Amino acid sequence: MTGPPSIPQLKTVIKDRLRSRAIFTQLAFCFFYTITRPMSGFVEHIKFNRKALRALLAISGILLLAWGGCWFFQNHGRFWAHRVAPKLFKPKIVFVIDDIGEHDKLKNELARLGSKVTYAILPLRDFSVYFTAQAKRMHADVILHLPLETVHTDQFPGQGLITGEMTDSEILSGLRRDLASVPRHVGVNNHMGSKGTSDRRLMTIILRELKREKLFFLDSHTTSKSVAPEICHAIGLPFLKSGIFLDNDNAVAAIKTQLVEFRRIARESGTAVAIGHYRKNTLDVLAEEIPQLEKEGFEIISLRNVLKIQTD
Ligand SMILES: [Zn+2]
Repeated sequence: MTGPPSIPQLKTVIKDRLRSRAIFTQLAFCFFYTITRPMSGFVEHIKFNRKALRALLAISGILLLAWGGCWFFQNHGRFWAHRVAPKLFKPKIVFVIDDIGEHDKLKNELARLGSKVTYAILPLRDFSVYFTAQAKRMHADVILHLPLETVHTDQFPGQGLITGEMTDSEILSGLRRDLASVPRHVGVNNHMGSKGTSDRRLMTIILRELKREKLFFLDSHTTSKSVAPEICHAIGLPFLKSGIFLDNDNAVAAIKTQLVEFRRIARESGTAVAIGHYRKNTLDVLAEEIPQLEKEGFEIISLRNVLKIQTD
């Protein structure tokens, strides 16, 4: 086409351009409207719906607390476990009475303690079976109080003793005989044994058998040279250690002093095991102190429950 466009032609071009811009503007507006409408609706929804706003704040708070909690445990876990937790949760304590089975002169004193104590019964004694029956009536736990050699040559651990001089098969058959003489046992602790528990071969045979029998071992801790913790850890046998002996001094006042110390240990560690003996003073003091301990907020539990707590 040559020459300038006529007036009608120019009018048509202008109209077309205006129409196309209007269409573009309309499309842009529709697009913007489509995108922003739901958002503005959501903002308005939040703005005017207090419930939703509170929910949002609560979720933010929970997330913040969870983050803070993770940070606290990562940085102050030990502080929490040793200092704060015992104040918030009841410290748990266990009483084990050793040397039961020689005689029944204190059977009533022991029965008074009900299920608040674990019976550690010597094997092959005149009253071994009698006291397993009493423990059953009282719903108390029973463990075998296994005689092992001591470094004190003037002391004899008595019947059922297992020694380092025995062959592997003698040790195993001796242990099985001792276990069989104390029915309903759920675990084992050592009677004396300051020499025996430091004998690696002896303890390996004993602890492997306990593992096979699905029992646990409570180390009375008669020597710091005990190899039991190390072997138990290596073979995966549940292991417990006594926190304190209550009656190395058998006087009533001395036992009470030990119980004061035991309270401190239990508060600090959360769970603690104390060992006392089948003696009148010990049983009398416990009968008097156990209700008091419960009033003070201590929870008296069985040895088996300690293991459950440790494995949870
Ligand atoms: Zn003993």
